[in-house]
Amino acid sequence: MKIYLFNTLSGKKELLVKPKGRPLRLFVCGPTVYDDPHIGNGRTYVFFDTLVKYLRSTGLKVFYLQNITDIDDKIIARAHAEKVSFSKIAETYLAVYFRDMKALGVTAVTKYARATKYIPQIQKQIEVLLKKGYAYEIAKDGIYYDVSKFRDYGKLSRRTTVQAESGVSRIDESIHKKNKADFALWKFGHTKAPMQIINGEPAWPSPWGLGRPGWHIEDTAITEYFFGPQYDIHGGAVDLKFPHHEAEIAQQEAASGKKPLVKIWMHGGFLTLEDQKMSKSLGNFMTIDQFLKNTSPEVFRLMTLSHHYRSPLNYTVKLNKEMKLKWLAILEFLAKAEVGAKSSLVKKSRVSNLAKFEKEFTLALADDFNTPAALGILFKFIGELQPKLWQLSRVEAKQILKKIRKTLKTLGFSFKFPQIPLKIKGLARERENLRKNQQFVQSDSLRKKANDLGFLIEDSPLGPFVWPKS
Ligand SMILES: [Zn+2]
Repeated sequence: MKIYLFNTLSGKKELLVKPKGRPLRLFVCGPTVYDDPHIGNGRTYVFFDTLVKYLRSTGLKVFYLQNITDIDDKIIARAHAEKVSFSKIAETYLAVYFRDMKALGVTAVTKYARATKYIPQIQKQIEVLLKKGYAYEIAKDGIYYDVSKFRDYGKLSRRTTVQAESGVSRIDESIHKKNKADFALWKFGHTKAPMQIINGEPAWPSPWGLGRPGWHIEDTAITEYFFGPQYDIHGGAVDLKFPHHEAEIAQQEAASGKKPLVKIWMHGGFLTLEDQKMSKSLGNFMTIDQFLKNTSPEVFRLMTLSHHYRSPLNYTVKLNKEMKLKWLAILEFLAKAEVGAKSSLVKKSRVSNLAKFEKEFTLALADDFNTPAALGILFKFIGELQPKLWQLSRVEAKQILKKIRKTLKTLGFSFKFPQIPLKIKGLARERENLRKNQQFVQSDSLRKKANDLGFLIEDSPLGPFVWPKS
């Protein structure tokens, strides 16, 4: 199966060249651990988790590397504000990040690499850039990258160095920079003695004095360490395209003299909340933890994958409800198919076309990982089978179950059926006995009782089927 992915660098869908004799190398920008991750972050990480699980399901080995920015201005600022050490902030929010990823079922990452563990690699890369003339020093400030020296600057985000002047977030400020788009590779510390931490600001010794790394350099130092100067896929949210990813290209391609740094650049779309950009200060914000308080991780995954990864996703209360119902519909189908697989009385059946379903589903995923199309195919398949569920033989019901389970597993879903309380199960049994004895008035009142408690009893040819009301 040929897999095509959209490459931001070329602006086209490209064939994914499967490496021979080594795993596919994929890097995704990890979090800066200074705050609770929000559902927009969740979307990015669930998407790449699913992509990797899918690639692995095709037999491909994938080395999925993610960095953790555990040293950054934002971390230091929060540490100052809360009067605690920078490492306290980093440790706290790293733990929150891992907790939330686990809760979302994000398990595909091979290696998490923390920036502070790769200071020697970062310094080595900066030294190369200085030696090759791509970097310069501003006294009492830091080492900066000179974007005017790198001819390809702007090739990913399609900006010229001049356009880059209309700076966006996280561009390092200094009035002594040669070009406005120049960014810090190394920031000199304000401490004088070696290896000190003053006011929560760490400083590592370096050939240029005490200091700490700039934000962009950690990614390329880490990827060069694990993958070498070139690798297969780089992913991240679309807001990282500029200046962050542009800076990565400038750093690594200049340092190694090899291009491209990355074959395929993948960028995930924005998430808005009720049609607005998420903003903590405006109160329009939802953390992953808040989301999971009343919704399951499967519903989050379904919501993420129901949108194309490059498209915006607008989270609304209505969308949440819609996704909950859809997920419940999948579970109901599986639960009924399980009943059929165990106790169907039909001898032989050929109701479904599994081969056609599988082919269409696989094709959708191979086309730039079109998960909304793939899910559409799944829902259509289930929808068509729904009215014929009780006509399935045990063998066919089993085959369908196996296929759908595999399909959902490919997309990283796990499933738990809703709990039916013993009391409700008892009611359904009691009612069934009453029905058999033709005591319909009494049996109807029991059905109503279950209904009032939030459960539907459906009479199937194989007995009562109990399911929570949606
Ligand atoms: Zn990054």
